[in-house]
Amino acid sequence: METIIRVVEDIEKDYEIIREGAEYIKKGQLVAFPTETVYGLGANALDAGAVRRIFEAKGRPSDNPLIVHIGEIDDINELVAHIPSSARLLMDKYWPGPLTLVLKKASSVPAEITAGLDTVAIRMPSHPVANALIRESGVPIAAPSANKSGRPSPTLAKHVIEDLSGRIPFIIDGGECSVGLESTVLDMSRDMPIILRPGGITKEMIEDTIGSIEVDRRVLTPPMEGEEIRSPGMKYTHYAPNAPVVIVEGNIDYMADKIRKVAKYYSSKYKKIIVLSTEETALMYGDEDFTVFIMGSRAEPSTIASNLFALLRECDERNADIIIAEGVEETHEGLAIMNRMLRAAAFRVIK
Ligand code: AMP
Ligand code: MG
Repeated sequence: METIIRVVEDIEKDYEIIREGAEYIKKGQLVAFPTETVYGLGANALDAGAVRRIFEAKGRPSDNPLIVHIGEIDDINELVAHIPSSARLLMDKYWPGPLTLVLKKASSVPAEITAGLDTVAIRMPSHPVANALIRESGVPIAAPSANKSGRPSPTLAKHVIEDLSGRIPFIIDGGECSVGLESTVLDMSRDMPIILRPGGITKEMIEDTIGSIEVDRRVLTPPMEGEEIRSPGMKYTHYAPNAPVVIVEGNIDYMADKIRKVAKYYSSKYKKIIVLSTEETALMYGDEDFTVFIMGSRAEPSTIASNLFALLRECDERNADIIIAEGVEETHEGLAIMNRMLRAAAFRVIK
């Protein structure tokens, strides 16, 4: 299949590209497009055949449900059975934005999207290209991240091209995604709201609006064999570059020392070692026999979030044999960063 790639620099000047994309969606075809979190691979959410194409193109397991993206708050009404008042408060405060709500579904939502669950995940993206594409298509758009299943999520159009060129007809290149990690997924279908996947909208931000909520403990630990899983996505290894990732955690005063020891340990087995460090720690490394990439600043975790996936891919490009990543504090946005690192990682080393 030929893949057409179009660059949108100015949404008004380039609006013809949005119209072209919407035509593919209306015909039941797939379109990759930028959102503020990561690039999405979209299809008409009300067309079961189109939705199945997403799973084929990504190689995504069919029991992993998709998020439905809407263009206006009121578009949620036809997709859900009921909207709790606390969900309304969050929608008013954080939509459009990187917060996905899981609610009891309406019968119009195809089972292909929800993987047979009685709930549906919905979000309203704030990226102008995403928003315009949904509105112009006139239908809700189901969209997972536009990567091959298991690979780091795409934050640039070139990542989408790497993974899906030849497998989908149309890619809209809208530059770099600002958040860089996927949306927060909050399950509001039961009495106590619970975060199933942490993201840019933090627990604290949600609690400011609706009071106390929970965080699924599997956000930072893999599920045990046979355990009930509320978010099917939790059970898959994710975001993984080709090289194994090892996470080193602990006191940053000793970080460089620990990393050096871990690197030395691996140096007999691996040639090309890449260390993912932070601005605060990068200067602690000297002329060791490994490459140092800086993820961002610990003082401003959103910088780490927005660079993480692109750096994991860059490690592949540089033919890393092993990646040693510094852990960050698991508070606020750090929780989302550690969740993604752990899903990418082979080992979590030192606490
Ligand atoms: P992705 O599309 O790759 O961003 O992943 C979507 C995430 O939302 C996955 O972790 C899914 O398991 C989760 N998700 C989607 N729909 C539901 C649902 N109805 N209930 C629980 N989790 C969901
Ligand atoms: Mg994904």
